[in-house]
Amino acid sequence: MTDGARLPSSPRPARMYARTFMLTIDIFTLFPGIIEPVLRESILGRAIARDLLAVRLHNIRDFAADKHQVTDDAPYGGGGGMVMKPEPIFAAVESTLGAPPAVPVFLLTPQGKPFTQEKAWSLAEGKGFALLCGRYEGVDERVREHLAAEEISIGDYVLSGGELAAMVVVEAVARLLPGALGDEEGARGDSHEGSLLEYPHYTRPPDFRGWGIPEVLLSGNHSEVRKWRREQALWRTYLRRPDLLSRADLTDDEKNRVRQWREESEKPGGD
Ligand code: SAM
Repeated sequence: MTDGARLPSSPRPARMYARTFMLTIDIFTLFPGIIEPVLRESILGRAIARDLLAVRLHNIRDFAADKHQVTDDAPYGGGGGMVMKPEPIFAAVESTLGAPPAVPVFLLTPQGKPFTQEKAWSLAEGKGFALLCGRYEGVDERVREHLAAEEISIGDYVLSGGELAAMVVVEAVARLLPGALGDEEGARGDSHEGSLLEYPHYTRPPDFRGWGIPEVLLSGNHSEVRKWRREQALWRTYLRRPDLLSRADLTDDEKNRVRQWREESEKPGGD
């Protein structure tokens, strides 16, 4: 491979590191208690303590106008389950962020656009955003039509509420903020950066239950290690997520290599 030493390139420009202001994320939910503890731990907790990130939790119930603070009602047309009412949601968002909202409001829903690393980057580079967590059967459709900028799904499965989905988005974005990770460089080679999966990792001991590690990692030859890692990333992506390769930033040599792998596997008896 002529350019094998090149690490998977990040689609992001260096200006990320010039970020000087805190990223604010507003989360609208009926269950802030699900989210609060997660914000205290590990990288998220540190990013918040370092003023890289602010996460503001808003309890939608606080914005329900009636004395029982009702936030859901039965669906028109019948059927099971409850639907989140539009009034408290609009009141919560508009009294916090203005009307129209000053930042994009993303509705979390399994019907939304799949959340990707690329989307995480675009949110990390932006001025801030809001997440709206549904519950029950979901939210009144007028919220989607007239309040949400976009709908985000974290995968093709159904959760009971948007709170864990919101945490997925917050964590994916927070770790991209300059200064949030101990090892910024490490994150640049993460899976899905440059549309490749990451190479395999090993740590001490070099022999565990008779299972060794690739010799090259013990060689001390950094150029050979980089080359091996790049090759592994390419091979893994080819095997596990060939759909990503069309978007990956590959050298001509790497493209040829992938073509060869494909041809070999298409031969009778190939795998
Ligand atoms: N009845 C809805 C449907 O079939 O599309 C599902 C409602 S789900 C039980 C309740 C809430 O969980 C949704 O309003 C949404 O906020 C959240 N949720 C569930 N799965 C999600 C996913 N894959 N991505 C993002 N949010 C999700």
